[in-house]
Amino acid sequence: MKIEQKVKQTLKKIKLNKKEKIIVALSGGKDSTVTAYLLKKLGYNIEGFHINLRIGKYSEDCLEAIEKLCKDLKIKLHVYDMKNEMGSGMCYLRTSIQSSPGKGRLKNCAICGVIKKWILNREVRKLKADKIATGHNLDDEAQTFLMNIFKGSPKLSVNSGPITLNMHDEKFIPRIKPLFYVAENDIREYSKKNKLPVNYGACPCALDSYRIQVRKFLDTLSKKDKENIVKNFDKLLKKISKSKDDKITYCEMCGEPSRNNICKKCELMKIV
Ligand code: SF4
Ligand SMILES: [Zn+2]
Repeated sequence: MKIEQKVKQTLKKIKLNKKEKIIVALSGGKDSTVTAYLLKKLGYNIEGFHINLRIGKYSEDCLEAIEKLCKDLKIKLHVYDMKNEMGSGMCYLRTSIQSSPGKGRLKNCAICGVIKKWILNREVRKLKADKIATGHNLDDEAQTFLMNIFKGSPKLSVNSGPITLNMHDEKFIPRIKPLFYVAENDIREYSKKNKLPVNYGACPCALDSYRIQVRKFLDTLSKKDKENIVKNFDKLLKKISKSKDDKITYCEMCGEPSRNNICKKCELMKIV
């Protein structure tokens, strides 16, 4: 099935309304770029949001690609500059966290992911958006699902799926993944075919060896097998989500929605 049809089906499944204000989290890479391109092409009401992580030349190239994309698509772009807003870029912040007692083994992407999610929810809420769209694809989801199974905690996958479930709170902006059922290679091919402005360079901080190992394993499987992993996960998700505790509270330190008294981002940063 063609990528556009797959995305249309996914958006139908999650009942996305064309009147809703959707903020697309743009990284500058192919996945979020294709997400914005397709949502716009299909007539959705979108704006772009980018977190400038200040990872040297890599971040500069990402921003340049995003600015071109938003100009081409005629959509508004919001940029959150980490250095201006938080006092330092991701590299410095991450290294400080990793040099704190007990945090040395935390992976670059794990730290970066937690901080980006926290920024995204808070900033997008200020923009009064109804949904956040991210570029996660079939390969990302199969990797995350398998990693959670290997770690013995499939419940960690409960916030996966093409739309977030079980996070019903006025301070939490639901997240959607229009490319949930689309394989990474098809996205690369599509973005090249449509000559989309994309930074194809890899992030110099992407050193999550465990994810890379799982990715290598998944690369030995066919697209059909990966699709089956994600489809079966989807079925399982409905069962897991019913048994999952829905409790959401607010972080005692920052006031953001959290499953614990202190949110993951404040847990990371309180010792810095
Ligand atoms: S690859 Fe890892 S470190 Fe780089 S931007 Fe993505 S999550 Fe952050
Ligand atoms: Zn917090």
